[in-house]
Amino acid sequence: MTKKILVANRGEIALRIIRAIQELNYTSVAVYETPDKDARHIRIADEAIWLGDGPRCDYLNIEKIIAAAKKSGVDAIHPGYGFLAENPDFAKACEDNGIIFIGPSSDVITNLGNKVIARQIMADASIPMVPGTQNLTSGDAGLQEAIEFGKKYGYPVMLKATSGGGGRGIRRIEDEASLVGEIPIARAEAKAAFNDERVYLEKVVLDPKHVEVQILADKEGKTIHLGTRDCSIQRRNQKLVEIAPSLIEDKDLLDKICDTAVQAAKASNYFNAGTVEFLLDKDLNYYFMEINTRVQVEHTVSEMVTGIDIVRTQIKLAFGKNLSFSQEDVQIRGHAIEMRINAEDPQNNFMPEGGKTITTYQSPGGYGVRLDGFAYQGYTIPEVYDSLLVKLTVHGYTWNETVDRLKRCLTNFVITGPKTTIPFYLNLVQDDEFRKGDFNTSFLDTHAYLFEYAEQKSEVNKIASLIAEIHHKQENPYAI
Ligand code: ADP
Ligand code: ADP
Ligand code: MG
Repeated sequence: MTKKILVANRGEIALRIIRAIQELNYTSVAVYETPDKDARHIRIADEAIWLGDGPRCDYLNIEKIIAAAKKSGVDAIHPGYGFLAENPDFAKACEDNGIIFIGPSSDVITNLGNKVIARQIMADASIPMVPGTQNLTSGDAGLQEAIEFGKKYGYPVMLKATSGGGGRGIRRIEDEASLVGEIPIARAEAKAAFNDERVYLEKVVLDPKHVEVQILADKEGKTIHLGTRDCSIQRRNQKLVEIAPSLIEDKDLLDKICDTAVQAAKASNYFNAGTVEFLLDKDLNYYFMEINTRVQVEHTVSEMVTGIDIVRTQIKLAFGKNLSFSQEDVQIRGHAIEMRINAEDPQNNFMPEGGKTITTYQSPGGYGVRLDGFAYQGYTIPEVYDSLLVKLTVHGYTWNETVDRLKRCLTNFVITGPKTTIPFYLNLVQDDEFRKGDFNTSFLDTHAYLFEYAEQKSEVNKIASLIAEIHHKQENPYAI
């Protein structure tokens, strides 16, 4: 019985999902906006539907995507991550139009997408979390509530947008005067970014580790986990490097965190794949942070260490199949590390390098190496989307072997045209503390020397870039 699935996304995750659809022998439907007319997801999908000129507004247009889905007669929509993936109105529109939304129900997304409601659900289920406020009341009353919180728990405090996500809408506040000044600004920004001006406060966990747990849940409520991931290496509260499993040596603690994650998923009636995020303090106390109701960028590392295809499983679960395996069947083998290779300049505050054309693209390969990307030689990176080009994921039996493999891959990876995060990662994988697993979310702020590198290129690479450029010019005589 063949099925048809529309992928409401772009970039590497669109390719990842289309591959899973094709492996299931189902039909894949891609959608795109004009700036993505040269994108690979359109080429490999069985069908492609143009949504409009964009940029971004058409990928975010629920009506247009539902219309495309109906026109092409799809059974289901996979939202990927970002864009509409955590928009409960989109999930609801699918439900109302008889289209299967590959993810949890719109009710679950509504609850968990609101950080304050999510915290309330977890508090009711006795899940540990840092102290925090309810939504701050608007006006002076809210300022007073905030000041009280600061007095009670001390500074710094975290000022968060209730509907925030993707590392945006989070401000660390160092003292009362800044708190009073920042609240109105945070509200205005939250209103503009998330169409919800509500904000609340959390106590800051100092120099925490970010540890999260991948969850799978079927319609009958059977909920299992695929172990932990460490995502502490971040810039601007956004992940750059993800590792499975966490390198914390206390295995009982990690088991306990995983059990808590399953409990958190059950408390929110979770269905399909999701991620429960925690912060760990210096004494390894752990605190619930949020649940992401979608496939995550870093799902690849969990796949590599468990052998379970998370996207395939998401699709099967959405079509009503129950989990065919149990917790005991899930075995963690070895270690996996993912690095997000972004078109960004780490030396210039990770400034995006969009608009540039890739003149050389030579990717590594070999044993234990996985690439999830969509860029190619001659591809001009649209300026209007995020800067992720390719995810390099390596798997190894021991941690040291995995890091050595990663270093070898980074050394072999040549991308010219835009600046990328590769040279920065090359410094990182040679850092002693990184190699010892000794890092937290402040790592980049405290290790300035990671940003010291010259644009190194071997003679062979320089010649390869030149040849690639000549070929590119011959094939694209009108390109500037
Ligand atoms: P998002 O929804 O944008 O992913 P999160 O609430 O998951 O936001 O937080 C993202 C990151 O911000 C965390 O991984 C962590 O680095 C930092 N962070 C968030 N809350 C706190 C906190 N209370 N204390 C310390 N760091 C925090
Ligand atoms: P499928 O029919 O596609 O294998 P399943 O729901 O049985 O669907 O499995 C989903 C994913 O879990 C697949 O990636 C599969 O390889 C993996 N898987 C299935 N059975 C087991 C098991 N007993 N232990 C570990 N992983 C499994
Ligand atoms: Mg998060």
